[in-house]
Amino acid sequence: MLGRMQPRGVASPQFVEVADLAYPPDTMKRPPVLPAVAAICLAIAATQAGAADGAFAWPHGARAAVSLAYDDAIDSQLDNAIPALDRVGLRASFYIKLASPSLARRMPEWRAAAAHGHELGNHTFFHQCSAALPDRAWVTPEDNIDTTSAARLVEQIRLGNTMLHAIDGKDERTFTVPCGDVLAAGENYVKLIHGDFVAIKSGSGGVVPDMATLDPYAVAVTAPDGATGEQLIALVKEAGAKGTMINFTFHGIGGDYITTSNAAHAELLAFLAAHRDVYWTDTFMNIMTYVKARQSVRGKQETSH
Ligand SMILES: [Zn+2]
Repeated sequence: MLGRMQPRGVASPQFVEVADLAYPPDTMKRPPVLPAVAAICLAIAATQAGAADGAFAWPHGARAAVSLAYDDAIDSQLDNAIPALDRVGLRASFYIKLASPSLARRMPEWRAAAAHGHELGNHTFFHQCSAALPDRAWVTPEDNIDTTSAARLVEQIRLGNTMLHAIDGKDERTFTVPCGDVLAAGENYVKLIHGDFVAIKSGSGGVVPDMATLDPYAVAVTAPDGATGEQLIALVKEAGAKGTMINFTFHGIGGDYITTSNAAHAELLAFLAAHRDVYWTDTFMNIMTYVKARQSVRGKQETSH
C-alpha cells in the first residue's frame, strides 16, 4: 500500500489502522523455508506436554510467535529491511503488490530474497481499496474496489499466485488484504479465496488474544508508523506474556511511506535475535502452518474427551 495523504507530522500515531492506510500523493506513488511437514509434526509432538495446562504450545518451548511482514513490495524493503533481517538471520514475509514498480525493476533481488528463506505473499495486482471511505482521495477510479466485482478480483488474485510461483517456485501462499477492505462491489471477496491460501491477514489489531480461537483467515495485524524500537519490543513482550503472537505489518523501512526508522527496526530485530528461545520469529507461512496443525490437534483432543 501505500502511504497516507496527510502530511506526516505532528501527532503521528505509532501504529496506524489498516483502514487508514493510504497511498502517498501521486509524486511518491507512481513509480511509485517452510519446515517440512515431518518437522512440524515433530514440533507438535514435542509440545504435547505443554498443552496440558491449556496454554497454546509453541515449538521448542517458545512463549510467543512473531511475524515480521512488509507490504507493497517497495524499494526501502530491498535496500534496508532485507539486509537487516539477513544480518541477524531472521526470516520475514513480503506481501507483493504485483503491479509494484520495484518488482518490475528489481525482480532478481526479490527472487533472491525468496531464495534466502523469506516469504513472498500475495497482496493483489493493483492494491485496490475503497474510495468511499474517509481519507481515500488517493484511490483512483481504476483502483476503486467498490467498482470491481469480487469475481474479477478473485481471478486477479489467483493469477497473482501464478505469477509469484513463477518468481519463487512455491505452491503455497498467504495473503494480506489491501487496506483491510474485504468488500469488492459489495461482495466479500476474501471468503472466495480461503481455499487458495494457507492463511490471510485482514484488518487491524494488536497482540492476538487467544490462539485457540484465532481464525487463520482473518488474522489482524499491527502496522507501525514511526514507532520506536522500545514500542515495538513492548508488543513482542505482550505477546510473550499472553503466550500468543504478534503480527507486524511494516511498510517503509528507513524510507518510502508509513515509515519505521532503520534504528527502530534494527532494535526490534536485535531483540528478537537475542531471544530466539523465547520468541519464535518466522514467516507467516511457517507460523500459520504450525498454528493450523496445532489447532487441529487440540480440536481432536477436545472432541475425544
Ligand atoms: Zn498494502
